Order: sequence, then structure tokens, then C-alpha cells
Amino acid sequence: MARYTGAVCRQCRREGQKLFLKGDRCYGEKCAITARPEGGPGQHGKGRKKISEYGIQLRAKQKTRRYYGVLEGQFAHYFEMAEKRPGMAGENLLRILESRLDNVVYRLGFSSSRAQGRQLVVHGHFTVNGSRVDIPSYLLKEGDVVAVSEKSRAEDSIKNIIEANSGRPTPIWIENDKSALSAKIARLPNRDDIDLDVEEHLIVELYSK
Ligand code: SF4
Repeated sequence: MARYTGAVCRQCRREGQKLFLKGDRCYGEKCAITARPEGGPGQHGKGRKKISEYGIQLRAKQKTRRYYGVLEGQFAHYFEMAEKRPGMAGENLLRILESRLDNVVYRLGFSSSRAQGRQLVVHGHFTVNGSRVDIPSYLLKEGDVVAVSEKSRAEDSIKNIIEANSGRPTPIWIENDKSALSAKIARLPNRDDIDLDVEEHLIVELYSK
């Protein structure tokens, strides 16, 4: 399935909550959810019918997938990985999604959105353990060190992005050395560390059908 190229805010309105897909705009009054919190997108957004159990499970999956900007096939692959790991499959799934390099770049304030993080990774602005990594889906593990590459540190565009996002708090599972533009994955996150408002067991139920 191709990457979604429609109106970004429409995805949040469809899910009825902020998915933080557009950077700075998501934190201001221009956010479509802040401005018009009730109802889905379109003329009939407010009048949606009661949805089935399957529909609720599907929405949980779609919301999570959109939040992290992951395509259907890759999301299903992550679920397979999550099921094979010890512990709860739903929590494992969220942990895998959080450990993607583009997500960590966003969490660190090195980008204003995950989409921008993805683009910056592809353009080679980051290193992992000292080597350049340009794969947004690269999965980080405990002890890995993510840093802005030496060359990119001097670029005004990168400096401006980092400056604009410097106030964003770093998750507890990442040790962020802001002055060094470098961060270490202290541990992978627990469910409580992940701020996505989703009942992940619904995703497990959906894939278990
Ligand atoms: Fe748009 Fe961001 Fe608000 Fe979502 S959270 S509706 S992407 S501005």
C-alpha cells in the first residue's frame, strides 16, 4: 500500500485525537482537533454511526499506524515480531514502534514531526554508534547512541529545527546530552513511558481473527 498523501489533519480528525503529524502546528490553536474537537472529517463527520467491535479494533490499529507513520505491510511485520517476543504482544508492538530511528529522532527534538524525522534520516543527518544510518525504520536497542552527524551540525537548517524543538521533553528511557547533540538509549520503553492513547489489546485482537 502506498504512503498516505492526503490532507494530514484529516487523519487526526478521523481518529478523533491529535496524532502530532504536522510539527509546530500540532501544538498551536490552528490544530484541526483543537479548533474543531468533535466529529470526524467531512460534512457528515459528526453523524457517524455506532461502530462494530471489528471497527473499534481497526481504528486502534489505524490510529497507531498513522501515529508512527508506518505502512500496512511493515506494521503487520512488526506485529509478527511482537508476538514472537516474550511478554504482551501489544506492548511489544508499541516498544518496537518507539525504537524506530525516525521516532527517536522526533522524540529527541531533532525533528518537528516523525515525517520530518524520516526525511532527515534518509538524507543522512544522523549516526548510530558513530556510523551514518539512513534507514528510518532502523530499530534501536539498549545502549545505542544516536547523534547528529558532524557535517550536519554546521547546517543552519538542522540548527534551526533543533532550536525550535529544544523545549520538548525527552522520554525517560533516553539519556539526551543536548549540548553534544547525542543521546543514548538507556533502555527500551515500558508501556507507561509511551504517551499514545490507544488500547493496544484491540490491535492484538484484530490480528488474532
Ligand atoms: Fe493536524 Fe497536528 Fe492537529 Fe493532527 S495534531 S490535526 S496533524 S495540526
